[in-house]
Amino acid sequence: MRKPAPLLSEQSWQWHLQHAVRDIESLANALDLTLDAIPTDFPLLVPQPYLARIQKGNPNDPLLRQVLPVVSENQAHTGYSADPLNELGQTPGKGILHKYQGRALVIASTSCAVNCRYCFRRHFPYEQFRPSPREWQDVLAYLQEHTDIHEVLLSGGDPLMLRDNYLANYIRDLEAIGHIDTVRIHTRLPIVIPTRITAALCETLSSTRLHAVMVVHANHANELNEDVSIAMQRLTSSGVHLLNQSVLLRGVNDSVDSLYKLSRRLFDCRVMPYYLHLLDKVQGAAHFDIPQEEAITLHQALRDRLPGYLVPGLVAEVPGTGAKQPVTR
Ligand SMILES: *Cc1c(COP(=O)(O)O)cnc(C)c1O
Ligand code: SF4
Repeated sequence: MRKPAPLLSEQSWQWHLQHAVRDIESLANALDLTLDAIPTDFPLLVPQPYLARIQKGNPNDPLLRQVLPVVSENQAHTGYSADPLNELGQTPGKGILHKYQGRALVIASTSCAVNCRYCFRRHFPYEQFRPSPREWQDVLAYLQEHTDIHEVLLSGGDPLMLRDNYLANYIRDLEAIGHIDTVRIHTRLPIVIPTRITAALCETLSSTRLHAVMVVHANHANELNEDVSIAMQRLTSSGVHLLNQSVLLRGVNDSVDSLYKLSRRLFDCRVMPYYLHLLDKVQGAAHFDIPQEEAITLHQALRDRLPGYLVPGLVAEVPGTGAKQPVTR
């Protein structure tokens, strides 16, 4: 086994959160571009390590497109709504979504390290759903009662926004529930700020009795630089299973070549492609949409070029159904 190399970026993840770019002028200056300010209730947020992977002077950079507010966000588009998955109607208690058999999703944190323009939770009233410490006890009671739940997904927001000691406590609480055997963390932080994969986090994940699964969210091969690769190496050395979930996005990864490179690069980084999601029709994200027919054609072409284990499942969330649905003709 290769020894983990030191990360190229030395700064702590908290430092990077504090020094993230939050206004259009700073973004424009950093990238040598002219960019227009767009009024939005979902603010611009890009940390430096992610910014560094955006090509200067390229207004069409696939990473830039994921974080840049554009005019069309404020236009109404038919079929697009604030809560496309009707999640607000499905919460048995504060902070928990239990709509899939055997699995429950817990909203562990309400903030993110980056604001992705395509995010289906961009209008989600997080503050109403994040459990307080007392409500966390209610979440635990719910999990305790429902003995069919064996996997708990920590989601958000981004659960890795929590400090390491909080996460360690959460995981310890889950460990105490006998029928739970797996903790799954859905996060974009290791992609956005690789120094988030700290020694303390690795210690927590390697010492738990639970299977530890981490689903990172990367949409383009350019997101997976050397620092990300090193962070992933640290996680696999800690016994964490690594998966990736992407969203099919116009202007970001809407070609066979781009999806092919993403899968190959993920594998280089020890991450298995898991899902390729169709866009959830959330207000403000219509400029990312790819029609289902085109998505299926892309996916089939991808299957022709890659071994099966590198082809993510093409899925869509269908409100009112029990699971993510495979997308087929
Ligand atoms: C996606 C999702 C899951 C997990 O689905 P998998 O197919 O196991 O990845 C669980 N709960 C909710 C609410 C989800 O949205
Ligand atoms: S990190 Fe995930 S939850 Fe946060 S804005 Fe991006 S897509 Fe949405």
